[in-house]
Amino acid sequence: MFTPVPLIKGLLITLKHLFMKPVTLQYPDEKVAPFPRFRGLHALNVSHNRSKCVACYLCPTVCPAKCITVEAAEDDKHDKYASKYEIDLLRCIFCGYCVDACPVDALKMTSAYELASYKRDDFVFTQERLLDKR
Ligand code: SF4
Ligand code: SF4
Repeated sequence: MFTPVPLIKGLLITLKHLFMKPVTLQYPDEKVAPFPRFRGLHALNVSHNRSKCVACYLCPTVCPAKCITVEAAEDDKHDKYASKYEIDLLRCIFCGYCVDACPVDALKMTSAYELASYKRDDFVFTQERLLDKR
């Protein structure tokens, strides 16, 4: 025999969801607010108008994707610095190991996540592009 109770229950659930706050966003008009520990695009911290990186090679060593390229050089005061610092984001798995490994707090991960591009070259982030310009 037909009982309308399950039908009514189902309709009530549907109605309840109809008036709930939507969980989807109208991207790209509405942007997602990343969580505080979100791991997005890297940035190199700056000190005295130069990257804080001292080219110690710890981050390329620890990187499981082997996507960091560092070349060291020496300045007039015999301080070591990175003459080349590059991250290939197409290989990066955003694990954050490079940030954890850095002994001088030169590297961080930002909340930037809109990284799509049609060109492969756009995913190779050079030192100039990674410098934290804030
Ligand atoms: S986040 Fe992980 S994979 Fe990406 S560059 Fe850093 S260590 Fe390598
Ligand atoms: S671990 Fe830090 S200081 Fe060492 S190469 Fe990487 S960014 Fe530079």
